Amino acid sequence: MSGFPGFDYRNNALHVESVSLTQIAEEFGTPCYVYSRAALTSAYQEFEDAFAQREHLICYAVKANSNIAILNLLVRLGSGFDIVSGGELQRVIKAGGDPQKTVFSGVGKNADEMRMALAANILCFNVESLAELLLLNQIAGDMNKIAPVSLRVNPDVDAKTHPYISTGLKENKFGVPVEEAERIYQTAQQFPHIRFTGLDCHIGSQLTELGPFKQASEKMINLLAQLQSQGLKIEHLDLGGGLGIRYTDETPPSIKDYVATLCASTSQVTQRILIEPGRAMIGNAGLLLTRTEYLKHTPDRNFAVVDAAMNDLLRPALYGAYHDILPAKKNNTALQTHDYQIVGPICETGDFLGHDRKLNLTHGDLLAVMSAGAYGMSMASNYNTRSRPAEVLVDGDTVYLIRQRETIEQLFATETIVP
Ligand SMILES: *Cc1c(COP(=O)(O)O)cnc(C)c1O
Repeated sequence: MSGFPGFDYRNNALHVESVSLTQIAEEFGTPCYVYSRAALTSAYQEFEDAFAQREHLICYAVKANSNIAILNLLVRLGSGFDIVSGGELQRVIKAGGDPQKTVFSGVGKNADEMRMALAANILCFNVESLAELLLLNQIAGDMNKIAPVSLRVNPDVDAKTHPYISTGLKENKFGVPVEEAERIYQTAQQFPHIRFTGLDCHIGSQLTELGPFKQASEKMINLLAQLQSQGLKIEHLDLGGGLGIRYTDETPPSIKDYVATLCASTSQVTQRILIEPGRAMIGNAGLLLTRTEYLKHTPDRNFAVVDAAMNDLLRPALYGAYHDILPAKKNNTALQTHDYQIVGPICETGDFLGHDRKLNLTHGDLLAVMSAGAYGMSMASNYNTRSRPAEVLVDGDTVYLIRQRETIEQLFATETIVP
């Protein structure tokens, strides 16, 4: 057992649904992102089922994994979307997504992005400052439109996660302080091209406890009551994303318990609940498949140099994140087990995928870097002029190529030599 649903050993060979990683590597090469349709579908369904008793909209956070095949599967399941750029809006539209189920988050939306989103008639703008509200009012006025707005407040709750992915503390750049929300709503009564439709927050990512979600929801409910007593009508309450997943030995709450907590903390209000899950939807539905190029034994360390690197999967280098690394073929007992440093070919000491992994390896062995479905490919770069990996989606015994591996020519196709 790999411990990740959709990913299992059969006769000692790691399979995604019914297809072995060996077969995928032969057909599509490495490095390659591999996703399970069943794993994605089951995560989405778990969210839906947990919300059965409550009016709700699931707005998948596109930045976690923005491949249009993935977005399209979510469209077909009924999902809405949380976008953070005009580019993501175009992806959602290309994938067949409904702008009326799309919310637009982010601290730095520019005028072009606002125009694009207004023209598409999105569900709402999650506005993060008074300055942004002023610009949105002006642009909506130019277009003779009324912008639907939800104010993102910063509830000042400690998400107890990595500082780079904590967003709901008062020192973070996100949202407006709870104490200022009322004043902003009041000020904006005079903005003719703004209509407040919601209230929202997002306190961070990879949360493994329910407490912070509960605290944030309660602060939101209090604020909502205060705004309503001022005569404001609000149609939805957006509680953001952030539910964590198991990378190794974390014990995050189940999707069911998480949603139950949100519903319980907001039971005294009737507004529709929106959530914006990213990682919990797709994180454990994907892996990064890589091949061992060289084994290098020094007096201090045993290195396995693999063909995937920090440009393909940045999380270990960026956050010191841990991903399980599993052999595509298990129990090669003829080989000696070592504590391997799993490193890529990039010229940075931070270029590693895992430290001290007990593996028995030989040249050419395939490895699966698990839980790489979220913030994997979407954060990939071309550093060291490396083409980004291919992406494939497994559905039962069928494998679909959902993104071709980039060619080197594509990498410099937009560059020009001066005369
Ligand atoms: C990143 C982000 C999300 C998704 O967070 P996850 O931890 O992946 O669920 C949701 N909402 C906003 C505003 C975000 O920035």
